[in-house]
Amino acid sequence: MTTLHPTPPRAPGRAGAELGGTGLARTIRVRAAANAAELAEAGVPPQLAVVVATEDEASAWYVRSIAKAAAKAGIECRVEDLGPAAGPERIRATLEELSADEAVHGIILQTPLPAGADFEDLTAAIAPDKDVDGASPLSLGRLAAGLPAHPPATAAAVLELLDHHGVELVGRTCVVVGRSNVVGKPVAQLLLQRDATVTICHRHTADLAAVTPTADVLVVAVGKPGLITAEHVREGAIVIDVGTNPTSGGELVGDVELSVLARAGGLTPVPGGVGPVTTALLLRHTVQAAMRSAHRAWLRNQRDSG
Ligand code: NAP
Repeated sequence: MTTLHPTPPRAPGRAGAELGGTGLARTIRVRAAANAAELAEAGVPPQLAVVVATEDEASAWYVRSIAKAAAKAGIECRVEDLGPAAGPERIRATLEELSADEAVHGIILQTPLPAGADFEDLTAAIAPDKDVDGASPLSLGRLAAGLPAHPPATAAAVLELLDHHGVELVGRTCVVVGRSNVVGKPVAQLLLQRDATVTICHRHTADLAAVTPTADVLVVAVGKPGLITAEHVREGAIVIDVGTNPTSGGELVGDVELSVLARAGGLTPVPGGVGPVTTALLLRHTVQAAMRSAHRAWLRNQRDSG
């Protein structure tokens, strides 16, 4: 059997390396904080709004962690908690108000949503410039068309991690397990943009264990602990575990069994892999949106004064 080794991780490549994300996340947060300080000094303090319409505990934890990271980076985080009884019209009206508010640069609609509220339908109400988590159908369409747009932060985090660990993508075979609009599909688009050859698997994939070992780079975003075992992984493959599954013991585990480390070239840990990079990228995207907003204001002033 021929064994194909993808480019190993940058920091001395060895089989089974843990491809952590906390150092990378710190670097992204520090840069975002420096940019946020510059923007605040120029009179444009970056602001991120998070719209919540759920009492889900995991969601509340996630929102708290975003707010904390934003505060540390000097980005104001405004949480609009509408409560689980909020109807789609109330949520849409809030997203429209925030979209029209010049002080707000980024908007996230938190899931889960109340029954009867449709995520794609509602995120369409977010102003495209402020869609820092690439959630709206417009952002996803622009991403698919190769046009400028914020990609969903989790999908972007996968690419950041691969780059950070020196994984070459051009011409590589990548398999993405999961096809949600939040992770699977945008990850596949981003890999395609980097000239990888991409296969997407889902619930109806007839024989997952026959497809995943074709991957030089395997990205798993399903939400099923232990779905991917050593038999699913080619020797030396790079495995990115996006899954986050709470255990009964209050821990967080991914979709990939740790036994995979004996076979893979590298595996992202859960927690400490994709998660912290995702949060850091939301901050980066918010700062970028604020920079563009400041630039547009400057151009308007120039035009009006000239
Ligand atoms: P999702 O919307 O539920 O999508 C799950 C996907 O997995 C679907 O496309 C589904 O296929 C596929 N799937 C389910 N069972 C499968 C199986 N046996 N074999 C192959 N594919 C299967 O979930 P998501 O929002 O994409 O999230 C996926 C995981 O990532 C979750 O654990 C979530 O908590 C985690 N996540 C982590 C972060 C982070 O920052 N770390 C961010 C977002 C999500 P069908 O389309 O056919 O149903």
